[in-house]
Amino acid sequence: MEKTEAKLLQEKLFYKKKNAGLILSDEQVRECDDFCENYKKFLDSSKTEREAVDFAVNLIKKEGFVEFSSKQSLKPGDKVYLNNRGKALIFAVIGTEDVKNGVRIAAAHIDSPRLDLKQCPLYEDNELALFKTHYYGGIKKYQWPAMPLALHGVIVKSDGSKVEVNIGENENDPVFCVTDLLPHLATEQVKRPANEIIKGEELNILIGSRPFRDDEISEKVKLNIMKILNEKYGIIESDFLSAELEAVPAIKAKDVGFDRSMIGSYGQDDRVCAYTALMAGVNCKNPKKTTVTILADKEEVGSDGNTGLKSAYLKYFIYDLAKAFGCDGREVLSKSECLSADVNAAYDPTFSDVLEKNNAAYINKGVAVTKYTGSRGKAGTSDASAEFTGRVRNLLDRNGVIWQTGELGKVDLGGGGTVAAYIANLNVDVIDVGVPVLSMHSPFEIVSKIDVYMAYRAFSVFFAD
Ligand code: MN
Ligand code: MN
Repeated sequence: MEKTEAKLLQEKLFYKKKNAGLILSDEQVRECDDFCENYKKFLDSSKTEREAVDFAVNLIKKEGFVEFSSKQSLKPGDKVYLNNRGKALIFAVIGTEDVKNGVRIAAAHIDSPRLDLKQCPLYEDNELALFKTHYYGGIKKYQWPAMPLALHGVIVKSDGSKVEVNIGENENDPVFCVTDLLPHLATEQVKRPANEIIKGEELNILIGSRPFRDDEISEKVKLNIMKILNEKYGIIESDFLSAELEAVPAIKAKDVGFDRSMIGSYGQDDRVCAYTALMAGVNCKNPKKTTVTILADKEEVGSDGNTGLKSAYLKYFIYDLAKAFGCDGREVLSKSECLSADVNAAYDPTFSDVLEKNNAAYINKGVAVTKYTGSRGKAGTSDASAEFTGRVRNLLDRNGVIWQTGELGKVDLGGGGTVAAYIANLNVDVIDVGVPVLSMHSPFEIVSKIDVYMAYRAFSVFFAD
């Protein structure tokens, strides 16, 4: 049937987000699915910021990246990295064009919401051994009980030696668990407001129940656990004082849906953008502009601290890079461009009230480009200029990257921020680009495989341009 004039005119003049499944060929969809197989492996092996840095450093070393020093002389094609305390990473590929014309930055974060152990975590109560926790980042606390947890992190002993902990992920490992109240006795509990259904001090992790056999002493279960920990890790209780131990869901990344079109996993905010930016940074050979990929820590708690992007380490890295080429750091920054690689909320038909249909991001409609985040009248955001937004729009269209706009929820319903503002404050042009996520910040976040691949394509064409 022939299209009417009105239909043709509509197609020409209207903006409409389209499902990528209707645009891509079968082969292209397969390419997206294939890319995600290794992404799932990354998710399973990188559940903390430290593990994500280890994964990335291993990969880039194999690709010929060497540790950056401000004194070394650099030439186009050189590959360098800066490992910030094992918890954040910057790596760069030197471009053919002069660094003083600016660099191309993609910045993702590798920390995710979780339960951190307190400094004195271990206690016994009525012959059960438990860990006290202090949750990290924005969680709905009621989502964390009654699900298997794994424990990851490091313990630094008084002699300075470091023990790595990773337990609960292997098939034969034990797991740990926050208990919840049975419904039969929850009459009072369920009357609490949702943010107190489980209170912060109720996020206690059950770790043991068998006593050390002895008639004299108290805290026999705690002693038995401490004995096991001493045998396994060589630690004593005071070693917890200088530890970073993180409890995360002991669940592996899984395909979601009969059509296997989606991935469900813990920690996809923001390891989905970390992985795609990492692969784009590694696979971009001989770029014109120097490419800089950042995997940052501490985004989920406001980016403060020396491994978060409010710290000066990015600025210092750019300054040192500039120095290696005999130019000014501030000149480089002022001409640089950045994709702040972070996720956005995907439209959820079950909770459609909170999203404004025209401006929300949707599963399968491509990578989301978010001009501004923030809350209460765009406070706390870097609002990308029309010029830079136009440039990124042109770049993605020109290279056949399927993308969509995405605004985080209805006006005044809440909001959020990313690292975009901190990088923009260094006088860099920045816009948020990332994957739409369902159930964000929950123990099992969901993304579309096509959107994941489109994020990888977006970062790749940005670096290659
Ligand atoms: Mn994020
Ligand atoms: Mn987040």
